[in-house]
Parts: sequence; C-alpha cells; structure tokens
Amino acid sequence: MEDDTRTPAEMAHPGPATEDSAPVASSPTTTSAAGTNSSGPLPLRHGHELPFVAAPSSYLRPKPISRTMSDNRASGPLDKEQMQGLRGVREFLKVRTSYDVLPLSFRLVVLDNNLLIRKSLNILIQNGIVSAPLWDSKNSTFAGLLTSTDFINVIQYYCQYPDEIGNIDQFRLCSLRDIERAIGVLPLETVSVHPMRPLYEACRRMLKTRARRIPLVDRDDETGREMVVSVITQYRILKFIAVNNEQYTMLLKKAVRELGLGTYKDLATATMGSSVLDVIHLMVKYNISAVPIIDKNNKVLNLFEAVDVIPCIKGGAYDELSATVGEALSRRAEEFGGIYTCNEDDRLDAIFDTIRKSRVHRLIVVDDDNRLKGIISLSDILKYVLLYGEEDDDIEY
Ligand code: AMP
Repeated sequence: MEDDTRTPAEMAHPGPATEDSAPVASSPTTTSAAGTNSSGPLPLRHGHELPFVAAPSSYLRPKPISRTMSDNRASGPLDKEQMQGLRGVREFLKVRTSYDVLPLSFRLVVLDNNLLIRKSLNILIQNGIVSAPLWDSKNSTFAGLLTSTDFINVIQYYCQYPDEIGNIDQFRLCSLRDIERAIGVLPLETVSVHPMRPLYEACRRMLKTRARRIPLVDRDDETGREMVVSVITQYRILKFIAVNNEQYTMLLKKAVRELGLGTYKDLATATMGSSVLDVIHLMVKYNISAVPIIDKNNKVLNLFEAVDVIPCIKGGAYDELSATVGEALSRRAEEFGGIYTCNEDDRLDAIFDTIRKSRVHRLIVVDDDNRLKGIISLSDILKYVLLYGEEDDDIEY
C-alpha cells in the first residue's frame, strides 16, 4: 500500500513561513507558465512546505461557469478535445483491472479484528501507514478497513462519554462498530471489489460510497475463503491514470474555473490557534478529510488532514486534543510531502502532470495573494473524469 505511506514529495518547493507565532506556517511561491516553480528554494520551518504546482492556463481566460455532470452542450474545439481525453481515460479504466494498479512488489499489513485499538494505532505509526484491512480470524473473513475515520470516531466517543476514558484502552478493533452506534454514526458500508474486475467498477463504487480507498478481496480456489489482496486508493488510481494516459490527459486543457472543479462555497477552515478537537468536529460535520488552515486575511498557511489525527493520539493521549492545530502540525513526520496549491486558471492537464510526478492528495485553490478560494479533492477529479458528459441514465454504479 505504497500510497498509504507518507514519503517525501518528489516536487517539494518550499515557501517562506508567514505567521510568526505559527509553528508550521508556510506559503506557496509563484508559478511559471510552464508549471514549474519559478522561484528558488526559500527558508522552511519544520520540514513543511507548500509546493505550488500546476501550470496556469496560458491562453484560457474563461468566465466562471458551473456545469452539471450531464451538461454536454459545449462543442468548441477545446470541448471536443476535452471529451476525447475523458473518453480515452474511461476506456482505459474499462480495460484495466484493479489488480493492474498494484505495484510489482508491495507490502500489506492486515490487522486481526481482535487487536486492541491502542495497539493498532502503534502498528500504523510504526509502519508509516494510515490504514489497514481488518481480518476476522474467527470466521476467516475480511472485516472492513481501519482508517483515520475510526480514530476520529473513538475521539468523538470519548467526547460524548468522558467517563469512559478509562476503558478506551481496552477497546478492540471489533468494537469499532459499537462505537459508531454509540455516537450515532451511520456505519460505513464495507465495500470491496474483486481484483480482476475492471478498474472502472472500483472507481464507480468509490464515488458512490464516498470511500477514499477500497480493498481488493479475492476468494481462495481451494478453501473458498476470502483473501485480502491489497487496498487501492483514489490517489493510486489517479496516479495510475496520469502515468499511463499522458496522450489523453494532455487533451484536458480546460481550466479549473471553467470546469467548476472542486468546492468553493461553505468551506470548512480553521486557524493555527484552533484546537485539534474543533478541527475534528469540522471534519465530521462536513464529512471531509482535510481542513485548510488560514490566517485572519484568509491566506492559506497549512492544511490539517484526517491522517494528522493519528500522531495526536499516539500513546492513547485522547485528552491532549485540546492542543492547537499549530502544535499538532509540528508533530508531522519529517518526510511530510507538502501541500499542493493551484489557482483557478490552472488547467486539468497541468494537475494531471503534477499527480504524475508528485504525491498529491488534494489541491488547495488560492488566488495570486495566496488567499483561499477553494479545495479540489481527488474525489472531485475522479468524479469529473468518470462522470462529466455522461447522461444521467448512464450514471449507475
Ligand atoms: P474529501 O473529503 O477530500 O474526499 O472531499 C469530499 C468533498 O468535500 C469534495 O467535493 C471536496 O471538494 C469537499 N471538501 C473537501 N474539503 C473541504 C473543506 N475543507 N470544506 C468544504 N468542502 C470540502
């Protein structure tokens, strides 16, 4: 599960720290028309950077238009090219399998459902991973996926039942479903796909269930038992598309603004002084996996991701969640890959270039003064690539 590890970004372009009191603040630098960073490396604090990526569109200066997925009226040369690119990628996803996405050699950590949650957290941290499939050894079946959302649920449980803090250490992974019930969270559907099914199917299923990762589960021919082969993520799928479809992604010349790609209204944000707990509540309320950290002028300083919760509760420190975002971000691993930004005039082909070369998990959309405009999640890109221009009738999973 290579994409579950947090390794150094290939394209880190550090920016300067922008807020004196903020331990991890930094801001993006400017881009050149070629999409590379035009300024040299600048001083960086705490190993965090905001590499600025994606080429600004050189000749598209479109008016902001928000289109529905089935709005297929536009028919200029650029629209035709764009549709040609999208069709090429979709065909590719239909002829390749989920198995194809896996690297030649990979490591899979599967956790027994009976393990203490506390221990599972240590195992994730020790292995530098942020999720793992669960195994029910009593029934020899796949039992779901452990992700940062589960730890966020445990935190919420602690908030709702503070008297239970003494027992939290005794909870096992198999009690995660009880925790969900206790805090009133709808249990996530345990989706999985067969590794040899078309990749397109895994993508559709991810979009339908809003899952950011999906386990590949096969069945052993001899015993008939389930086997977890691996887990694929939106990140890995988009990387696979980017690496293998340059001839199609280069046709995606429309700008973010014109595509209406991402979310621009009602953004959940926090400041360096917000508590980790407040940010966790925001992530739960909005059902999102990251919150941009801004200053009083709406300038982007950093991003708090759901995976940043994991080091915060290391060693069962659930009561330390009143720490500030700034303090929590300073605990990020040295190898943290950085945060990626783009602006609304950047084109989708440039974003795919960046995905091809870097470990991009989402892009923060900023203006020329680094003020927050929006956020583009990998799910937004995947949704656009799969569904734009499809008739509503075709949108079944
Ligand atoms: P994600 O949780 O990153 O998969 O994003 C799910 C959806 O929420 C996507 O459509 C994003 O554009 C949107 N989104 C992500 N982060 C935020 C945020 N901080 N505020 C509002 N919407 C967001």
